[in-house]
Amino acid sequence: MNWFKHLLDIIYPRSCEACGESLLGGENLICINCLVNLPRTNSHIIQRESISKKFWGKIPVSNTLSFLKFSKKGKVQQLLHGLKYGNKPELGKSLGQLYGTDLKEVELEKKIDILIGVPLHPTKLQQRGYNQADCIAEGLSLAMGIPMEKSAVIRITHTNSQTKKTRFERFQNVENIFKIVDVEKIKGKRIAIVDDVLTTGSTIESLAIALLNEGCKEISVVTIASAV
Ligand SMILES: [Zn+2]
Repeated sequence: MNWFKHLLDIIYPRSCEACGESLLGGENLICINCLVNLPRTNSHIIQRESISKKFWGKIPVSNTLSFLKFSKKGKVQQLLHGLKYGNKPELGKSLGQLYGTDLKEVELEKKIDILIGVPLHPTKLQQRGYNQADCIAEGLSLAMGIPMEKSAVIRITHTNSQTKKTRFERFQNVENIFKIVDVEKIKGKRIAIVDDVLTTGSTIESLAIALLNEGCKEISVVTIASAV
């Protein structure tokens, strides 16, 4: 069916989500040139303090892993923008699969029991039509064979009002952002929290505290991008 793909490319030109150049027949979402040159952090091979220190002194995180280096106006920002605002859930799955393949090299699947994408508030989920963190988790799950858990946690606060609060206030306010609705599904589990980008880490921190408070065994953090 290759000729058919080529024909479609002529009628409906597809473009690379990272650089905007036209995609060739065998390429999907990201062109070969961008794929080869993705700015990987390799945090699964070499510990990157600039990434892991975001949680130091706040919450115990066993593994802090980020696929790509985030830079403003760069290709990674372009990819994340497409994933979040461009109605491209399949891009999240693709990026998750790519990263999952890297993470399998260090056998991360032996250290994680379940993957949980940072939940969106139901209003936002309805607006966007999909949760980008779940799309990434789906790709990671496919590549590494770790199950996803989508129904144990819900988000009950629309926006993250955590940033301006002190650490103690944040700790107290945790219940107001995420709610564990099925404790049995997370109890004693080694959980990887999945999100698109790691910035201050405050939302992930809130989710981690909620999970730890309800008896999960261990927290890891896996994101597609991080400012390093
Ligand atoms: Zn490209």
